[in-house]
Amino acid sequence: GFGGDGDEDLTTKEEDTALRPKRLEDMIGQREVYERIMIAVKAAQIRKEPLGHILLDGPPGLGKTTFAMCIPRALDVPLQIASGAALAAPKDLLPYLTNASEGSVLFIDEIHRLPKAVEEFMYPAMEDFRIDITLGEGVNARTLNMPLPPFTIIGATTRTGLLSAPLRDRFQVREHLEFYNQEELCEIVTRNAQKLKVEIDDDAAQKIAVCSRGTPRIANNRLRWVRDYATTKADGEATFAVAKAALDMLGVDPLGLDGQDRKYLETILRVFNGGPVGVEAIAHTLNMAPDTLTDEVEPFLLRAELVVRSPRGRKLTTAGYAHLGETPPEELGA
Ligand code: ADP
Repeated sequence: GFGGDGDEDLTTKEEDTALRPKRLEDMIGQREVYERIMIAVKAAQIRKEPLGHILLDGPPGLGKTTFAMCIPRALDVPLQIASGAALAAPKDLLPYLTNASEGSVLFIDEIHRLPKAVEEFMYPAMEDFRIDITLGEGVNARTLNMPLPPFTIIGATTRTGLLSAPLRDRFQVREHLEFYNQEELCEIVTRNAQKLKVEIDDDAAQKIAVCSRGTPRIANNRLRWVRDYATTKADGEATFAVAKAALDMLGVDPLGLDGQDRKYLETILRVFNGGPVGVEAIAHTLNMAPDTLTDEVEPFLLRAELVVRSPRGRKLTTAGYAHLGETPPEELGA
């Protein structure tokens, strides 16, 4: 990423563990996804069959890992965790597959980052619970067919579109996680304030919820920051005024946008005259990977209707101009 501020909100995972719900029932929001996953889990239990493979997609911090960790707990089966980025060759996947026990779950985070060779190696494992291992080279090469116990893969990705169709099709259940509403985020903040033993007023919890970009991980990070601020500046009590001062100091604006979000909007405004502009050009100007913009920065700004996607690229909306304190050009109908 670029710049210091805000970056960590989207990428720090170590601190997630303490506040991560342990059981599916403890998860807040995502009701429809939750209900469908519960049905699949219960059906697997009743039929004593392994759960079908599950693909979860959505922006970072919305609960993909949390679902993936709660599901095996609900089934009382072992869980293995792998990352697509670390599986460079089929041999890297091998230990996970040979360790898989009947009904167990293998969670592959960032599954879109699997190289093609690993992906293809996985197809028979997912479909028929077997793998083909090639021994030797050239004319002496032989293929060894190895059966696997029936097991479940849970894949997580920021965008389903990043996966090849054959891989995508091998998941029986595909769920998209959406941003959380204020009420849900407020509940998450209130519950986690208890876990962190910080006294927080209702309107302070609301303020943090509004400022969290619809994302539980960001809500947790903001809450921790407000707690630190309250500890050092206000005898530990998180009132509305304390929360507001703490978030102002972080550079979080009233819509919850951070420095990175504003740099993105301001680049469209000042460098590209409000757009339309292609995401590559914005990414280039900001010295960022286009995928990071598409998967981590843009989804919330699109949902907040500060920008729109048009056939010719991204454009600021009237609300986008207003948020930057600018008057929109006449053709936007100000
Ligand atoms: P992802 O894998 O999509 O990036 P995570 O599952 O790691 O996101 O979620 C980040 C953090 O947000 C978790 O550690 C947890 O504390 C919190 N969180 C996510 N989803 C929920 C939820 N539905 N209810 C409560 N907290 C949640």
